[in-house]
Amino acid sequence: MLEGSEGLNVKKQFAVIGLGRFGGSICKSLVEEGMEVLAIDTDEEKVNEYAAIVTQAAIADSTDEKALRGLGIGNFDHVIVAIGDNIQASILTTLILDEMAVGHITVKAQNDYHEKVLNKIGAHEIVHPERDIGVRIAHNIVSENVLDYLELSDEYSIVELVAGKTIGGETIIDLDFRSKYGCNILAIKRGEDIKVSPWPEEEIKQNDVLIVIGADKDINRLENHWIDEN
Ligand code: ATP
Repeated sequence: MLEGSEGLNVKKQFAVIGLGRFGGSICKSLVEEGMEVLAIDTDEEKVNEYAAIVTQAAIADSTDEKALRGLGIGNFDHVIVAIGDNIQASILTTLILDEMAVGHITVKAQNDYHEKVLNKIGAHEIVHPERDIGVRIAHNIVSENVLDYLELSDEYSIVELVAGKTIGGETIIDLDFRSKYGCNILAIKRGEDIKVSPWPEEEIKQNDVLIVIGADKDINRLENHWIDEN
C-alpha cells in the first residue's frame, strides 16, 4: 500500500496499467489532482519516464497475477487498464483484477467486441477514447454552433451550443425549448458566469453557451435548426 493521508483527506489510490499516450495522460492528470498513483508497464523506458511524476512506478507484466499481487493491487481504490493493441493482455488483466476484487476497474476498449468481453468479465467502466473523440470532433465539424458533445448512452447526449445571431433577448419560455425540441437547458454560460438550472424566464443572449440534454434525435433537430438559422 502507498502512504495515504489521514482523517477526512484520505487520498484515493489509483494504479494505471499501460503507459501509452492514454495511460500516461491519465497518470499526469491524476497526479495534478493530488492523487496517489502507481504506474505499471512492461516497458522499462516508459516506467522510467513516469517514475519522477507518479508516487510509485513499477516494471511488471499485468498478466502475471503474482506480480500484481506483489504490488498490492488488490488494495487500490481504482485501477485503470490502458493497454491498447494487446487485447488478450487487456482481457486477462481485467480478469485478474476482478478476481482480486479491486473496487473499481476502468478499461480502455479497442473495439466493440473487446467491450462486449470486458462487460462480461468484471470491468466496471469501459472507455473508448478514440471513438468518443471521433464523435465529438464530427459534431463540432458539422455544426459551428456545437462546442462540445458528450454521449450519455446510445440514445441520450449532452451538447454545448452557442446561441447564434437570430437568438437574442428571448427567454427560455419564448424559445419553447422543451416542447419544440424535447431538450432541456441544464446551464447557461455567459463569459465567466454560469447559471445552473436556469429559470424559464431567463433571457438568452447572443453568444451565450447553452448546455443542453436530450435524446440524440431531438438534439439533431435542434442542431439542424440552429445551423439553418445562423
Ligand atoms: P496509446 O494510444 O494510449 O498511446 P496504444 O493504444 O497504442 O496506446 P499500446 O502502446 O499497445 O497502446 O499499449 C500501451 C502500453 O501498455 C504500452 O506502453 C505497453 O508497453 C503497455 N503494456 C502492454 N501490455 C502490457 C502488460 N501485459 N502489462 C503491462 N503493460 C503492458
